[in-house]
Amino acid sequence: MIPAQFDYVAPTSVEDALAALAEHGDDAKIIAGGQSLLPVLRMRLNAPEIVIDLGRIDSLRGVRDDGDAIVIGAMTPHSVVGADPLVNEHALLIARAVEHLADAQVRHRGTFGGALAHADPAGDLGAPVRALGASFVIQGAGGTRTVSADDFFVDLFETAIGDDEILTAVRVPKHTGWGAHYEKFVRVAHQWPIVAVAATVRVEGGAIAEARIGLTNMGSTPLRATAVEAALAGQPATEDAVRAAAAHAAERTSPPSDLNGDADYRRHLATVITRRAVLAAAGG
Ligand SMILES: Cc1cc2nc3c(=O)[nH]c(=O)nc-3n(C[C@H](O)[C@H](O)[C@H](O)COP(=O)(O)OP(=O)(O)OC[C@H]3O[C@@H](n4cnc5c(N)ncnc54)[C@H](O)[C@@H]3O)c2cc1C
Repeated sequence: MIPAQFDYVAPTSVEDALAALAEHGDDAKIIAGGQSLLPVLRMRLNAPEIVIDLGRIDSLRGVRDDGDAIVIGAMTPHSVVGADPLVNEHALLIARAVEHLADAQVRHRGTFGGALAHADPAGDLGAPVRALGASFVIQGAGGTRTVSADDFFVDLFETAIGDDEILTAVRVPKHTGWGAHYEKFVRVAHQWPIVAVAATVRVEGGAIAEARIGLTNMGSTPLRATAVEAALAGQPATEDAVRAAAAHAAERTSPPSDLNGDADYRRHLATVITRRAVLAAAGG
């Protein structure tokens, strides 16, 4: 289907984009890579009067070192994030998740910030950024604020970004030297996950000193499997120990039931996939 007619602007600064948002209010919609928004417009699920393209704002693109964290610009395409040396050195879990995100075309156009702002519970980036304790830099007319990953995801397709605000960057604390693995369960290649698990671990002398685990599609937002994290701490990185800890993966989750599987099936998958993800992250 062809989208309803809309005006289009492509500002070259965040300030100009914010001014356009303020001027048009509810009638405006931001476009980043367009990989989720364009299908929505084509299905006429949304019909903004004006589309504000962030694609010409250079300051929103790229990855930089910021001391104890790396900062990923919201408009950085998935393919650039996945190949970036800083991401691979300090936040390997994100690079591992990007490898599984859609196909090469979508990874070329789609952006890190666009995917997180879209907040699809089956999206592949929410679980890794929650597991890594990232924070979100959001700019509005009144200035810039930072929101933790725990508070950013509010509900299905809903985030802490206000209607008159723009996500400019995501700050990811460095996890240098941590092993990482993203295990995604799909029926068909390049699909959205039925369930996926993002695991990153710090191994010391054959034992798991610390673990951080994120769950994809086990609720209306990406979740942290804190019971698994606690059960893994100090355990040897062996099949039996990891299996016992992974048995907690479905605790405090509320997975959906749909044509791909019911909630009980997803709970079972979460325990199996968590075991695989943790063992792979620990190099087992
Ligand atoms: C065929 C196909 C397969 C896909 N498979 C997967 C998959 O397996 N896993 C996965 O995770 N994703 C998948 N995606 C989605 C992909 O990750 C998209 O890149 C992503 O969802 C949206 O990113 P975008 O940059 O294209 O954002 P857009 O589509 O441009 O925008 C998405 C939404 O976010 C808002 N927005 C964008 N940027 C900002 C910002 N900086 N500040 C505030 N609001 C903003 C927009 O207004 C819009 O509402 C797939 C997409 C397609 C087309």
